[in-house]
Amino acid sequence: MIRNYKYDEIAYAEKIYKDNKFQTKHIPTELKLLVLYYRDYLHLKAKDRKEKLTRFCIDNIPNYNRATHFKVVNRALQKGSSKKEKLVKIESIPIYQKELDYINNLDIQYDYKKLLFAFLVQMRLNKTMFEIRNKDKKYKSTNYFKGGKQKYQNIKSMANVSSKININDEFINQLSQGDNPLISILHSGLISLNFLNECKQTGDIVIKIKDYENVGWYFDYYNHVDDIVLCEYCKQPFKQKRKDSRFCNKHIEYQPLISKTITCIDCGKEVEVDAKANNRIRCDECIRKNNNLLRRKNYYKIKSELELIEEFDGKSYLMQPHYRELIDKGYILKEIDTMPEKFGNYDCRAILINPKYENNIKHMSYVVFAKRIYW
Ligand SMILES: [Zn+2]
Ligand SMILES: [Zn+2]
Repeated sequence: MIRNYKYDEIAYAEKIYKDNKFQTKHIPTELKLLVLYYRDYLHLKAKDRKEKLTRFCIDNIPNYNRATHFKVVNRALQKGSSKKEKLVKIESIPIYQKELDYINNLDIQYDYKKLLFAFLVQMRLNKTMFEIRNKDKKYKSTNYFKGGKQKYQNIKSMANVSSKININDEFINQLSQGDNPLISILHSGLISLNFLNECKQTGDIVIKIKDYENVGWYFDYYNHVDDIVLCEYCKQPFKQKRKDSRFCNKHIEYQPLISKTITCIDCGKEVEVDAKANNRIRCDECIRKNNNLLRRKNYYKIKSELELIEEFDGKSYLMQPHYRELIDKGYILKEIDTMPEKFGNYDCRAILINPKYENNIKHMSYVVFAKRIYW
């Protein structure tokens, strides 16, 4: 989701505002976005922006302190007052027939085409972002791309290709061979995406990319790859998890649920469950109870194996861990099985002290607390 937010600051800021919490570790950036949202979408005056932002910081910065954090807050407020600053959104990235044909017709493996396509989109996103932010400046178009592990990971994720592809050793290495390579290796991670020179923005616009996290699916959809269909809500391509999936991950809630009725084996209540849930035999509430029960049983089983569960008068008690040690040292005689009065949170206090050591009883470590359990 973060990549899409990067190019849709309005949605990004709205998310921070509605969740009332930071979405990433980029605190100064997110504070600035929040102030711009206050100003341009909630129409708050400077004084109110300051108050609201301070409130947000108190809620979200652990150990918030006015004296140490005022710089961060003030900087965000200053930026949020500047006329030059505003929340930007890239509506879509157009892809032209000529450039799509060019990449599609290359004699390389299909996943590599998807990677080139993702590089193309990434470069165009960078350019578009610059142009929106700097209306008066001209963007110096280059084909240079500064690589790096994280950046290549992002490109693979954008391209919807296997994360196992090794960009440096396989992809770039192969595409940088020959006289007119698609990519040239320059130095220290810098590459030149030569193929972009052939991507001419002419002809019809055949694709408008709006989901920048799944650029590869647009390429797949154009090429009629199986399982890639358009979401019925947002009309963007996505990979079907099931043959009948009609909505992308973001709009999964629109998928009509086909349900069936089961009778809970524990409480007998009739409940609606997903028709595909073959193993459902309990209602939600009883599943939770059952899980707790299983977890508790398991816990007591382990304690029992450690001989920390004792029976007195037909009742079960969970003994404190040092119980065994005291028995081994002979401080406690197991045969003397008395469980006297209630003590604090514990149901009983075990005073099972060997008379030989009775003087030590004042020392708490010679006292074992026991808790009544039911299992
Ligand atoms: Zn959708
Ligand atoms: Zn039930």
